[in-house]
Amino acid sequence: MQKHIRNFSIIAHIDHGKSTLADRLIQECGAVSEREMTTQMMDTMDIEKERGITIKAQSVRLTYVKEGQPYILNLIDTPGHVDFSYEVSRSLASSDGALLVVDASQGVEAQTIANVYIALENNLEIIPVLNKIDLPAADPERVKDEIEHTIGLDCSEALSVSAKSGIGIRELLDTLVDKIPAPTGDEDAPTKALIYDSWFDNYLGALALVRVYDGSIKKGQEVYVMGTGKKHEVLNLMYPHPLAMQKTTEIKTGEVGIVVLGLKNVGDVRVGDTITDNRNKTAEAVGGFKEVKQFVFAGLYPIETDKFEELRDALDKLKLNDSSISYEPETSAALGFGFRVGFLGLLHMEVIKERLEREFDLDLIATAPTVTYKVKTTKGAVLDIQNPSQLPPVNEFEEISEPYVKATVLTPTEFLGNIIILMNNKRGIQKKMDYLSPERVLLEYEIPLNEIVMDFYDKLKSVSKGYASFDYEPIGYQVGDLVKLDLLVAGEPVDALSIIVPRVSAQSRGRDFVKAMKEIVPRQLFEVAIQASIGTKVIARETVKSMGKNVTAKCYGGDITRKRKLLEKQKEGKKRMKSIGKVQLPQEAFLTILKID
Ligand code: GDP
Ligand code: MG
Repeated sequence: MQKHIRNFSIIAHIDHGKSTLADRLIQECGAVSEREMTTQMMDTMDIEKERGITIKAQSVRLTYVKEGQPYILNLIDTPGHVDFSYEVSRSLASSDGALLVVDASQGVEAQTIANVYIALENNLEIIPVLNKIDLPAADPERVKDEIEHTIGLDCSEALSVSAKSGIGIRELLDTLVDKIPAPTGDEDAPTKALIYDSWFDNYLGALALVRVYDGSIKKGQEVYVMGTGKKHEVLNLMYPHPLAMQKTTEIKTGEVGIVVLGLKNVGDVRVGDTITDNRNKTAEAVGGFKEVKQFVFAGLYPIETDKFEELRDALDKLKLNDSSISYEPETSAALGFGFRVGFLGLLHMEVIKERLEREFDLDLIATAPTVTYKVKTTKGAVLDIQNPSQLPPVNEFEEISEPYVKATVLTPTEFLGNIIILMNNKRGIQKKMDYLSPERVLLEYEIPLNEIVMDFYDKLKSVSKGYASFDYEPIGYQVGDLVKLDLLVAGEPVDALSIIVPRVSAQSRGRDFVKAMKEIVPRQLFEVAIQASIGTKVIARETVKSMGKNVTAKCYGGDITRKRKLLEKQKEGKKRMKSIGKVQLPQEAFLTILKID
């Protein structure tokens, strides 16, 4: 009975307690025993547990009894990071309501706002929840004011809870049963289900997590995936649960469940796609399906050049369980054979690189991330350039455009000055400045995405002692006065180190770049020149002096084990080095550009 189903998400800024609250709700509904309870039940990937972040959306089906009446609660956990905003939007599209969790000791942050907008677009009933009220610094009244001021959401009935100590959890469950509307699908209409998450399971293959809008999905049914145009047999159905998936034979109207189709490739069950009945198709897919778009690109190269095929193999396998990456082979004069890989954002890039190294035992060099530039050639063609070294010579193109984003920053007022300087350095254009209270300010900027890709996040954290929060969304392309800056090591241009920069800051970037490289390039047996150039014009130069002595020289001959250890250490270091001509460069050299201002 749809009347007794509640589908809801938890949305929050990172660290405001979303996963902890999910754990508490699971526990309160008795879905796992005390003994089985681990913290952060919903974060299943190793990387998620280690970093304490949620990458994939997860769900759990719970049963809650209110006044003698059992209700089915489908809790849809959403990924909290900007890179995965498309998944957030699909998770929310599958929900009928959302718990908006705000840390009562912190207040509204950038992703709080971004998530609320997505929830409002999906017409969700939003229940404000102030979390961490056990903390002495909690100030629920101030935070309620902030929510009302920034988002215009009525907070007179907001709930105060502590996900950690369990305060207010029962009341929260009662409230969500009362306030979140039950689904109202047509039980007799053809099957219509939205895939809002998909992932790869080693035993079961690609799994699709769906919300059924109309009709139902039955075991044995022949279904049709509208985006791919392929039909499949439903092999199994399950209700989601972090520990033990419970099998079922039917996922009914309004319910949430996992569909097993025996597929090898998650690309066949992409997030946002619609599943219907093959013989009795629904007229229209659930709205809002978008092809995922990669915003950040980087070259990935195996350190050992003979590992290229292994890298290809690893990417093929990863793509089967993360269809949001793209890759194509590329060659670099400096690094050899590798791939240009497209990611949803910077965190996604880090996660993928880490998984390639960890799960496939590869040593990789990543080049500095870049965006897609649009280059209009003198012949009238428009090229997408995702690798700076592929920019045509200056006389062969008319203009370069670069992607911009709308950036939202929330900060305590004491860091406002620092942040405005940072945004100006990054070519940001201020669009809005709004005092939420005497202590906190909301800023809106238009800023080139490339500036954000270049280590912006770490810099924002450092100028605000970690207090500023940040979110962004793409707003299209603008023409820029940009040039390619090349780096030469020992007279040889290193294509993998080229970057595209604004003409006005090319000179100073070039100088900082060679200075930073000088610190990183290890001394060789000979003197090494490091130069930055624009076209054929050298604009900066530093020299790395020759090394002279061998490292073992300081061992005074006697201590043989110490000597061996040093040699081994040196060998270990070499493994992470890449020979560029006669010069050995460490892996970090390729990311140096990110560290300069
Ligand atoms: P998420 O990023 O929104 O999923 O946040 P987490 O659930 O991972 O919580 C972030 C941190 O806040 C963790 O260290 C939690 O233990 C802590 N936390 C969560 N809820 C509470 C609470 O009610 N009180 C206190 N004191 N800490 C909490
Ligand atoms: Mg979490």
